[in-house]
Amino acid sequence: MNRNKLFMLTTVLAALAWTAVAFGAGSGLERLYILDCGQNTGKDQSRWSPGVNEGKPIEFSDNCYLIRHAKGLLLWDTGVPDAVAAMPDGMVAANGAIVYRRAQTLIAQLAEIGVKPADITYVAVSHTHGDHVGNIGLFPTSTVLIQGAEYDWAMTQSVKPAFAATQKIEKLAGDHDVFGDGSVMILSTPGHTPGHESLLVLLPKTGALVLSGDAVHFRDNWEQRRVPSMNVNRDQTLASLQRIAGVLEDKKAQLWINHDKPQSAGLRYAPAYYD
Ligand SMILES: [Zn+2]
Repeated sequence: MNRNKLFMLTTVLAALAWTAVAFGAGSGLERLYILDCGQNTGKDQSRWSPGVNEGKPIEFSDNCYLIRHAKGLLLWDTGVPDAVAAMPDGMVAANGAIVYRRAQTLIAQLAEIGVKPADITYVAVSHTHGDHVGNIGLFPTSTVLIQGAEYDWAMTQSVKPAFAATQKIEKLAGDHDVFGDGSVMILSTPGHTPGHESLLVLLPKTGALVLSGDAVHFRDNWEQRRVPSMNVNRDQTLASLQRIAGVLEDKKAQLWINHDKPQSAGLRYAPAYYD
């Protein structure tokens, strides 16, 4: 190769490297898997969507997400308990307001993609409702990332999350950069519960995503800014929705609404992934 060609090649490579950094590919974030963590039926949609479909049932998706980064694995939410997979009629929860079902255990889905519980560095939960913390204790060597406000509140409830005794619990006070390079950010979005949080993920090819947690349950509720009556704080919920809207705008991000079954049906579940 003559000097001129070498110079041109170097220039092209430098430009490519710059482009990769500009689009977030320079971070250690590698891929995201969606795991099926429950298929739940709400007895009365109006519990989540005030004034809408009173007395009519609604189907929920309930996802967990596994994020692979060069510095470790993060599991976001743990779904309904794995034991539910062995219950043909499902498990009744919230005083009969909802029935949990599970097609496959979380552990089996992780095994299918070659992941053992001990491989998971962090388990973060959007909040402590039973359809999100159902398997929290299955990761005894992982560090739990949870808002301090959520932890304290959960400990006042009659049914408490079943943390494993050996788990290190890192109590957060607001936003948190999980791997230190800005590619996976926990965003404080209180209101549904006192220490609710959502997750901003900057994937190298797919781009930016916000995983909602239960900041909002369905697309229609997002568009109408509806606040479920069960939420602990209405004003905080609305402020958190506003905050998420700002992040979507700023990062040109997609919003993945965890419990929105029609949206989830259009996404690729593990072993497929997003990178
Ligand atoms: Zn919830």
